[in-house]
Amino acid sequence: DLPHLAEDDAQAAALKYVHASPDSEKHCANCALIQGADGEEWRPCALFPGKVVNANGWCSAYAPKP
Ligand code: SF4
Repeated sequence: DLPHLAEDDAQAAALKYVHASPDSEKHCANCALIQGADGEEWRPCALFPGKVVNANGWCSAYAPKP
């Protein structure tokens, strides 16, 4: 299993990543950059190789799925 991305990781902090999105309509699970399987709590993200992000998280690179 991949390690969870930490909010105080330098790259995460640069993108203001948080485990709990402040916007219920914008979160990692419906971001174009999320990877892995729907329904998983922690999933890979194209921006953070080698780590997993929270499905309910968010960062400033958020882009809605097309
Ligand atoms: Fe979440 Fe940001 Fe990755 Fe999108 S780019 S899945 S908002 S961490």
